[in-house]
Amino acid sequence: MPDALSSNVIDVIELTRALVRCESVTPREAGALDLLEVTLAPLGFKCERMDFTQAGTDDVANLYARVGTGGRHFCFAGHSDVVPVGDLSSWTIGPFAAELSGGYLFGRGAADMKGAIAAFTEAAARFLAKRGRDFDGSISLLITGDEEGPAVNGTVKMLQRLAERGEKIDACVVGEPTSSRRFGDMIKIGRRGSMTVDMVVRGIQGHVAYPERLDNAIHRLSALIEALVREPIDKGSTHFQPTSLQFTTVDVGNSATNIAPGVVKARFNTRFNDLWTSQKLLAHLKERIEQANAKLGGNGTVEYAKVEVSGESFYTQPGPLVELVAGAIESVTGGKPELSTTGGTSDARFIARYCPVLEFGLVGESMHKVDEKTGVADLKSLAQVYEAVLDRFFAA
Ligand SMILES: [Zn+2]
Repeated sequence: MPDALSSNVIDVIELTRALVRCESVTPREAGALDLLEVTLAPLGFKCERMDFTQAGTDDVANLYARVGTGGRHFCFAGHSDVVPVGDLSSWTIGPFAAELSGGYLFGRGAADMKGAIAAFTEAAARFLAKRGRDFDGSISLLITGDEEGPAVNGTVKMLQRLAERGEKIDACVVGEPTSSRRFGDMIKIGRRGSMTVDMVVRGIQGHVAYPERLDNAIHRLSALIEALVREPIDKGSTHFQPTSLQFTTVDVGNSATNIAPGVVKARFNTRFNDLWTSQKLLAHLKERIEQANAKLGGNGTVEYAKVEVSGESFYTQPGPLVELVAGAIESVTGGKPELSTTGGTSDARFIARYCPVLEFGLVGESMHKVDEKTGVADLKSLAQVYEAVLDRFFAA
């Protein structure tokens, strides 16, 4: 017979509203983790703050909460931080008021992803009410306050700490808003990698009237850009779209009308699929650049000022975890989710090094925008899906 836990009823709507009211723009904790702690502790979760610091980055508060000490370990990972509101005057509803209107809950973080944290909390409460705390397994929430920022003092370090003390996770679901148009229509089973490269291209500065005495760095760069974007990098793989490369800035800073510049800086970002590691791809791109540069003749040079890899691509083979979550979604929505690897990076890239991981959550259409919102019905459905996931994962 379930114990007194059955009185610990969590309401996903009210918990989401309370979380949205915490103005936890990265890296501020703003009471969001405190609120989760006082919500989870009475359910039996042992709550542990894992706050990390590192020189040159903001201090970040994180929360690890676990119920159960043995058995199979299911982890829900998420972030309590939110992106800034942007242009406040464009919001039609206060971004931290958490108002309900027309079947939606409005506010920064409603979709990305306080709603999912609340939904999982309700699901865990219901599961524990049914099964009691001694269900021969462990459930944890790994909540970081540093996902939307540099992601240095969050999930990465929490996972390291767990590994150091021998805590193993058997499966993980990240609550990112992966649904595309309709709730439940998409799961993310992988993500592309992301790499940003800063280049400095040098030619010879000179008077525009004497082209024979100069080597215009802009012209040189344009040929290099051509070499990078003319031919596709690949055709995509079974589960991934083709690798893409986008130049994001070209900087010369030349105010003179009669000087051809000798130096130009440029930056590109590439989102790459599982056919590459960042290292392999960088070598390939450098080869394209060097070949094009050599073809131009002269003594122009290319220097790679900075290469930043924010994550390698990762992919979870369709298998038990994917089937389990897809089945749980279908049991609630009646539809099969698409298995996708599109979109930006998420903390799942770090978790993939430790255990099978996938991402499933609310409809992401409004995330990071003004008037971010989530359907009230979707929040309730998400709590049901997460509960079904726990039921299936810990099926006797
Ligand atoms: Zn997010």
